[in-house]
Amino acid sequence: MSSLAKNYNRRKIAFKKGKGSFLYGTNGKKYLDFVQGIAVNSLGHANSYLIKAINKQTKKLWHVSNAFIIPEGEKLAKRLTQKTFADYVFFQNSGTEATEAAIKVARRYFYSIGKPKKNRILCIKNSFHGRTIAAIFASGSKKMTEGFGPKVPGFDHFKFSDLKSLKKSITKNTAAIMIEPIMGEGGIKVHSNSFLRNIRKICNDKNILLIVDEVQCGIGRTGKFFAFEHAKIKPDIVPIAKGLGGGFPIGAVLMTKKAAKGINIAGTHGSTFGGNPIAMNVGNAVLDQIYKKGFLKKVKKRSEYFHNELNKIKDNNPKLIKEVRGVGLLIGLQLYKEQAKFIKKLEKNKLLTIRAGENTVRILPPLIVNKAELDLAVKIIKKTCREFN
Ligand SMILES: *Cc1c(COP(=O)(O)O)cnc(C)c1O
Repeated sequence: MSSLAKNYNRRKIAFKKGKGSFLYGTNGKKYLDFVQGIAVNSLGHANSYLIKAINKQTKKLWHVSNAFIIPEGEKLAKRLTQKTFADYVFFQNSGTEATEAAIKVARRYFYSIGKPKKNRILCIKNSFHGRTIAAIFASGSKKMTEGFGPKVPGFDHFKFSDLKSLKKSITKNTAAIMIEPIMGEGGIKVHSNSFLRNIRKICNDKNILLIVDEVQCGIGRTGKFFAFEHAKIKPDIVPIAKGLGGGFPIGAVLMTKKAAKGINIAGTHGSTFGGNPIAMNVGNAVLDQIYKKGFLKKVKKRSEYFHNELNKIKDNNPKLIKEVRGVGLLIGLQLYKEQAKFIKKLEKNKLLTIRAGENTVRILPPLIVNKAELDLAVKIIKKTCREFN
């Protein structure tokens, strides 16, 4: 009997090693892994460049307190700001810590300008921002919050992509609107660029900060470094995590100089492990690869090919597949039938995928996926559709 708590419904497979897009099961089978730790292993498994970087660092220094200067973190923060909208960065160890920090940054900004009552955070109903007490109430999901009361105050909700509902939910005390540009857990639901631009405009007009949660869709996953870049908007605060560490725990919140006003004061926030030299060094190594000339162009090209092939499969299986969703390598196959069974059959055919909301099969290849691997996935999905019909 396992001594692990049963808060996960674990699949009955384990792996002895990974390499690139593949995982090798203890059952002797080789799987094409299009889960990749849920968009975490952005450069695939056992990436030799990342291995070199982490090995080098583990011999030098693992951990020092944030009471001292950490050069690897200075470097990573500099690089994250030089290429983006942000002026300041604060590091954490996970996505939910990053979204929590984002909420704190927004509230502390209005506090610092003498508007402490402007502290409410407006989120999408049934969104996902992590599992801490604040983050689950930010999500507004009944399932995630059930039994975890009392309800954390300070969160309001609007309906996905519904401008009327958004406008109606704003009050004079709305400090920030927090959205995922593409809802990952929620079913790979993509906001239109015009909706995102509308939100930005509303935030400008009403002195509201825009928090864009890029924990899942950021760091190159959509073919741009950030998903919000597709809409050509500039957010004020952006939590990131998953893909930045390539498999090593890391989180960060990026912010403009203005938004950072309240948190840029010693003692306002902190983390013991956040920003440790190993995580920072791995983050830098991931950026070395993603910032390489042509890297994101390749992600875009590969993903266009894959979307095209998936749409052909959809057209040939109109009763099974409702929609191919997503941008870049953040992909959802929305099914008519129960997706759990389909995912199981894909696994039997040695392609690993994972569920998302709204009956969606989530497909997350590593950003370094090649054409032959995509072709293999297409072949497996076709075969699985045949077996399913
Ligand atoms: C995964 C995720 C989080 C939470 O990240 P953890 O590292 O699991 O805490 C937050 N927001 C989004 C959009 C995510 O996909």
